Amino acid sequence: MLNEVDDTRTKYAKKCKECSKVFNEGYCIESGLEYYCSDDCLHKHISDKQFKDLYDEGKGDSYWTTWRCDEDMLYYKDGSEIADKEGESK
Ligand SMILES: [Zn+2]
Repeated sequence: MLNEVDDTRTKYAKKCKECSKVFNEGYCIESGLEYYCSDDCLHKHISDKQFKDLYDEGKGDSYWTTWRCDEDMLYYKDGSEIADKEGESK
């Protein structure tokens, strides 16, 4: 066994509004009003046409993106919030 990672401590930036899955790559809607992990989840709330309007050829605040910064990481894999746990240990 090499590099067995305790992935319950892996950090994720966002949680899907539809399915509550945590992820680092997905849809940001209106600068963070909503987040969705996949096309399927997005399209349960926002149609293709609506998204195209929001995306506005890249000028809008809704887009598919990837979060990489440590400071963007808000959740553990089980969906619990990192800030809550760190607050308790103070
Ligand atoms: Zn989802």
